[in-house]
Amino acid sequence: MTLKISISGIRGIVGESFTEEIALEISKAFGTFLNNGKVAVAGDTRPSSKLFKHLILSGLASTGCLPVDLGICPTPTVGIAVKELGCSGGIVITASHNPVEWNGLKFFRGDGTFIKEDELNKLINIWKTKKFKETAETKSIEKGEALTIHIEKILKVLDVKSIKERQFKVALDSCNGAGGKITQMFLKELGCKVLAINVEENEPFPHPPEPIPQNIKDLTELVKREKADIGFAQDPDADRLSIVSEKGEAAGEEYTLALSADYILSKPLNQKTIVTNLSTSMIIDDIAGNHNARLIRTKIGEINVAQEILKSAAAIGGEGNGGVIYPEVSLSRDSITAIGLILEYLAKSKKKTSVLIDSLPKYYMYKEKININSAEEAEEALNKIKEKYISEKMDLTDGVKIIFKDSWIHVRPSNTEPILRVITEAKSKEEAKLLCNLILEVLNQVP
Ligand code: MG
Repeated sequence: MTLKISISGIRGIVGESFTEEIALEISKAFGTFLNNGKVAVAGDTRPSSKLFKHLILSGLASTGCLPVDLGICPTPTVGIAVKELGCSGGIVITASHNPVEWNGLKFFRGDGTFIKEDELNKLINIWKTKKFKETAETKSIEKGEALTIHIEKILKVLDVKSIKERQFKVALDSCNGAGGKITQMFLKELGCKVLAINVEENEPFPHPPEPIPQNIKDLTELVKREKADIGFAQDPDADRLSIVSEKGEAAGEEYTLALSADYILSKPLNQKTIVTNLSTSMIIDDIAGNHNARLIRTKIGEINVAQEILKSAAAIGGEGNGGVIYPEVSLSRDSITAIGLILEYLAKSKKKTSVLIDSLPKYYMYKEKININSAEEAEEALNKIKEKYISEKMDLTDGVKIIFKDSWIHVRPSNTEPILRVITEAKSKEEAKLLCNLILEVLNQVP
């Protein structure tokens, strides 16, 4: 497995594709790219993150930058800290929802958004050509605290009083990741009774880290047993969130953005625009329709959504994988902000979590991967699909998306792996699977 390089950052298996040497060199490349200033550095709770952090702090210092060590922080916290502390950039050491053997780096620009594609290419070019800036001057490493900055920022945009009045009982599973500490602090600020599991920073991940229904059974049990109002599950760098209803039912990640958007778009706004990527559920189309809002779909990749939110001055945006971007707080996916919005929705609507979830339409997704050997092969496959569906409504922004009345098919080359991703969505499981099989047939793959 080679090092994965994409606009989501770099990611690899520790000691194999992602080594100490690579971490050191890339931090020097990032310092060279930024060319000065303070650089925020934080990691998730993986044991390897600590080791990499020392290398990255010294790599940055060797280029004349001033590293600011923020300790263990969620990815969105670093984005906010970069901006608030006047840094010229930031690095988060995390492999997000990948298993513990993995680690990687995400890069923030000075404005608190992720670096763009052309900037990433520039960074990788500096790394590959090893043209690192060097300085003889030794800069010390600053220590910083960013959790309270992040919490304050969210509290400012919430109706804290309404939430506090409800004294919600909230169950939390942070997968022993970077979200545990800050989320407990945040929930206490909102007057919640917190029932937390898997919030130990020094313990291993207790289950596969993606917050999808099959991985969060302990949380669903906890919600039921303790009669909590809601349950929240985060991935290890706390940019993704999923919800469990008071009945102990996992809603699935698509409902996190859906509920947050349903709430924000119900407010009186000047600009009712929502942004999401092409692979996010049609629930968002229905919500946008209900609120007379404009929906803009982008290429896959968080930065693409964030840039469009900025450009269109959207009220909210994000991804169907549980990534909510609320621009009043920041331009990156943020599970802690999403928790605040959903609790405010519960407080204001005076409805139960399951009622809010059930009020949204239900769709079913089906996903497949097809191995490909080259970019040409991917192109050829996409052309075959385009030909087959020539008379249908199509979006060619990112691969091929064929849009039917209440279903769709999206086929695109992965940003990180030599595969084509096939995602379909329809009103029933059977139909979603059938749509996927049609694509496999077109590409001569056995379903
Ligand atoms: Mg993540």
